[in-house]
Amino acid sequence: MDYIDEAQCRYILDTCPTAVRIVASSNHRVLFANRRYIESLGSACDQVIGMDPKQFYVNPQDYEDIFLQLEQGLPVLDRLIEVNISSNRAIQVLASYFRLQYENEPAILGWFYDVTALKDAEDKIHQITFYDALTQLPNRRLLMDRLSQVLVACSRSGSYGAVLFVDLDHFKIFNDTKGHAVGDLLLVEVARRLQLCVRKGDTVSRLGGDEFLIVLEMLGADAEQAAAKAEMVAEKIRFALAEPYVFDERLCYITSSIGIVLFIGQQDNSEDLLSYAHTAMHQAKTGGRNAIRFYDSAMQLAIEVRAGLVDELHLALEKQQFRLHYQVQVDTLRRPLGAEVLVRWAHPEHGLVSPAQFIPLAEETGLIIPLGLWVLRTACTQLARWQHDDLTRELTLAVNVSAKQFHEADFVSQIERVLHETGAKSSHLKLELTESAMLEKIEDTVIKMRQIESLGVKFSMDDFGTGYSSLQYLKRLPLSQIKIDQSFVRDIASDPNDASIVRTIIAMAKMLGLEVIAEGVENDEQRKYLELFGCSAFQGYLFSKPVPLDEFMLSLDK
Ligand code: C2E
Ligand code: CA
Ligand code: CA
Repeated sequence: MDYIDEAQCRYILDTCPTAVRIVASSNHRVLFANRRYIESLGSACDQVIGMDPKQFYVNPQDYEDIFLQLEQGLPVLDRLIEVNISSNRAIQVLASYFRLQYENEPAILGWFYDVTALKDAEDKIHQITFYDALTQLPNRRLLMDRLSQVLVACSRSGSYGAVLFVDLDHFKIFNDTKGHAVGDLLLVEVARRLQLCVRKGDTVSRLGGDEFLIVLEMLGADAEQAAAKAEMVAEKIRFALAEPYVFDERLCYITSSIGIVLFIGQQDNSEDLLSYAHTAMHQAKTGGRNAIRFYDSAMQLAIEVRAGLVDELHLALEKQQFRLHYQVQVDTLRRPLGAEVLVRWAHPEHGLVSPAQFIPLAEETGLIIPLGLWVLRTACTQLARWQHDDLTRELTLAVNVSAKQFHEADFVSQIERVLHETGAKSSHLKLELTESAMLEKIEDTVIKMRQIESLGVKFSMDDFGTGYSSLQYLKRLPLSQIKIDQSFVRDIASDPNDASIVRTIIAMAKMLGLEVIAEGVENDEQRKYLELFGCSAFQGYLFSKPVPLDEFMLSLDK
């Protein structure tokens, strides 16, 4: 029933022990409010009558929704809302509303039950059931529930997650020597620090004793990167917990051992994951404590190798272990046009390391920014030197620029500064970017490329044909050259498909007024096909491998 008559209304108003209020439908003013309602508001009667009831709601939209629903002839019964009835606390009310005539005016009767006490009791029960009393962290029960939700979400999104098992080292001794009260304080502080180490969506829970469990979500689709991220969080935790604690003005210290297991979806069940993480934590303990271990030994090994390389890479720049090799680029008469510079790592033990092995790592860790700048500066220094010699004056240098480097906010000014500082002629510098690097943030790319172009620097699109190759984009980008990827050149003589791709690329480039260079030219047959299709610049082992500068200079003299 959503409509009551005058007699029913009178009865309610006379007998009702709960709060009741009547509002005029026409202008939304309070026409009547009983003593209980006014008391709960904490205001004098004349301040309630004639007021707009919206202001008594924590969320005024609630009132509008209710009104709309009644207007449509729908009943509103037992709706739980928060009404700011008492001036200093929001209370939960269960409200029913009815339409009626009140003193010949269409009006709405609101009938409110204060259920704050009930809600408080409910919250308390929830708290006891799902949270740890000491630290207020989710307990094992809530954790298992969350973990199963995360497993579903991860399998749906194809993204990795991780479970971290954190156990304090020698907590029993700490407890026995410092007393249980201090032990409790420590656990509370550990809980606080753990929460500061994770992102908002991640779950930190206490299993009991000194055992904490953390669930990390959305670590990405790549296993190795997900492992690296999980390890980073674990390291952060290990450091945060090792910071000194102050209890009763005395300093205390504790370390932790952490086990990690990665998961991707529902093929792992929550209980198994917990026990894997526990196993890994035990390995961290037997390995000497204050350590991190992955459950999967292959994952553990990959992380160690990678960590070693990362450390060494950082030192490599400081220790000046990078070298540039020059690979000549020639015209149809095999005359040198210039060279592409390719970076090498002169590792003290492994010898020359190929960029394929360390560039991706340098990109991931951000080292590519200083490394890329070093390559650019070295190449420009060389260009400036060449300007004084007839033999080398016209040579160009092509420098590879990675996406991360290009999308740095100050990349344009980096180029400007290097040109200025080295005195290199900008028209002889060519930046090689891949399609994917250019298509990432296309608007930003176009603006940046135009700014760099206006400095006189040229652009070549590297590995052309392996990406999207949209003509639409080619027209918008200020390119001067495209570089046909070596995968098409390799089989140009034997695979008619590759031959026709190359022929089309060259024809298209010509229509757009772009130069074309082919890379990976290893034999004369490939070169002939390319020339036949109209390609006029070449790079590859047929002419020379990438070589150190002195060797490159010697080859020019011939
Ligand atoms: P890329 O830019 O496509 O470089 C061409 C690669 O093909 C070079 O490998 C080169 O040595 C190789 N190559 C040249 N001619 C031939 C040939 O006839 N046959 C075959 N099979 N291969 C040939 P490299 O030097 O190992 O470089 C690998 C990649 O590392 C480069 O691919 C580039 O993406 C990246 N790289 C190298 N130096 C730099 C740098 O200074 N900065 C950045 N961001 N990336 C770099
Ligand atoms: Ca290149
Ligand atoms: Ca290439």
